Amino acid sequence: MKKVVIIGSGLGGLSTGVVLAKNGYDVTVLEQGNQIGGCLQCFYRHGVKFETGMHFVGSADEGQILNKMLRYLEIDDKLLLSRLDVDCYNVISINGQKFNYANGQEAFINQMASYFPSQTDNLVQYCQIVNSISTSSSLHTLKYDSTDNTINTEYQLRSVNDVIEHIITDPLLQKVLVGDLPLYAAERDKTPFSIHAFIMDFYNQSAFRFVGGSNTVANALANVLEKYGGEVCTRSKATRIICNDTRAIGVEINGEQVLAADYVISATHPMRTMEMLSDTHLIRPAFRKRINSIPQTVGGFSVYLHFKENAVPYMNHNFFCYNTDTPWGCEQYDDSIWPKGYLYMHMCDKPLQQFARTGVIISYMRIEDLKPWWHTSVGHRGTEYETFVHEHAMRLIQSLCKQFPGLDKNIEHFYVSSPLSYRDYTGTEGGSLYGIAKDVTLGSAGRVPHKTRIPNVFMTGQNINSHGMLGCIVGTMVTCSELLTSKYMYEQIVEANK
Ligand SMILES: Cc1cc2nc3c(=O)[nH]c(=O)nc-3n(C[C@H](O)[C@H](O)[C@H](O)COP(=O)(O)OP(=O)(O)OC[C@H]3O[C@@H](n4cnc5c(N)ncnc54)[C@H](O)[C@@H]3O)c2cc1C
Repeated sequence: MKKVVIIGSGLGGLSTGVVLAKNGYDVTVLEQGNQIGGCLQCFYRHGVKFETGMHFVGSADEGQILNKMLRYLEIDDKLLLSRLDVDCYNVISINGQKFNYANGQEAFINQMASYFPSQTDNLVQYCQIVNSISTSSSLHTLKYDSTDNTINTEYQLRSVNDVIEHIITDPLLQKVLVGDLPLYAAERDKTPFSIHAFIMDFYNQSAFRFVGGSNTVANALANVLEKYGGEVCTRSKATRIICNDTRAIGVEINGEQVLAADYVISATHPMRTMEMLSDTHLIRPAFRKRINSIPQTVGGFSVYLHFKENAVPYMNHNFFCYNTDTPWGCEQYDDSIWPKGYLYMHMCDKPLQQFARTGVIISYMRIEDLKPWWHTSVGHRGTEYETFVHEHAMRLIQSLCKQFPGLDKNIEHFYVSSPLSYRDYTGTEGGSLYGIAKDVTLGSAGRVPHKTRIPNVFMTGQNINSHGMLGCIVGTMVTCSELLTSKYMYEQIVEANK
């Protein structure tokens, strides 16, 4: 059995571990933290559970792509999903005006056309392009060798706003269609339209929350990994990938013990991977420099709300709110106008829930705002930091209460995480929400390859293909194809879904 050491137990690391363990590799996943899951982690306070990262997923109905991937990973029957309202899974509020996103292309077009009747034909054209992008990817359609590179390339090189403003002529509808842009931290003139299209298609097909929280995904994957003889070791920080003159030979853990490996797969932020490879000449300086200079998505500031019992009706949709007249540019603020926008969601504790026990408000925050505390660690940031985050949490709650008057009276406790928390809990650079930022102005120089120059060192996770539930899993398939061949992987996924 070939030994594979995977660094990082987020969705990328765990799913890669499952695929390889299923295929006869001897897998060990190393996790620096106390808990597995990375962005799938949850935490408890006063007996109540909160999700820290992933909150909802799409395309999970029978026959849809995420459903097929979950079945291949053998966790489809271990997760309980709760469907968001089909006629309104997202509500977009721009300057007080509200717009609903409905599931299914036809319903989506009809819903949007009811607000913007003159744009019906343009909406049809927009949806056709979104559809052509998602079906041009062989991994999304599971048709081996059917990738349409022309479509992929065109929309990877054109920005979201460029394409939308070309098709849609109503300025407000142009903004409504990017109302969920915090899901991919899009920036005007930078983020490729293809990212927008994949996410629009993913959630438009169907949208669900995890009943009981996102860590159920991590636990289910870890169980499958163990079933195939693999293991996950927490409190095991990979401090170095050890190489000889030609290849990697093992991984140093916590600066002490060494675990020998035939293959090393890093499922961490690529800058962390470069740090672990800092003492080998096998990585070219130009590659290191490029990886270390790719821009990151903006950081996230989250306020976790613990509601009084039976006080807040469960909201079966996500609420995206913009205090100005546009979703664009919320990452550009000065402190006096923060927050320009936020995303508000409830967590699903049980099916058919009537009241919410917890909710989360997520807004952008740049790591530079936290400069005085850069060198601090979790739980040791001092009272000035506590005051800073408390004051910003209160501002976010007040902003929310303008849309949901009186909600603050139903909050029993609240807790906060800042970009520093994300940085320290997951290793994401600068506390960035989704790792590296895809940027049309950088082209291929802004992408992270899954292969390195070291023949047995690979990368996986959200920075390879894309972030999010499906983005990460597609990245896993791409990386695992190096060991198993892509044709064989496709056959396995198709076979698992027969
Ligand atoms: C606030 C937020 C909300 C989100 N909401 C959604 C959503 O609703 N739907 C959706 O689909 N996606 C969502 N995402 C994105 C999604 O959660 C991520 O893209 C995905 O979970 C990332 O998985 P990953 O494995 O690439 O990285 P991570 O989850 O970051 O995992 C990396 C792991 O590597 C570990 N690690 C780092 N360095 C080392 C080391 N040296 N040694 C050992 N371990 C190490 C870290 O501790 C961490 O556990 C959200 C993300 C955030 C931050």
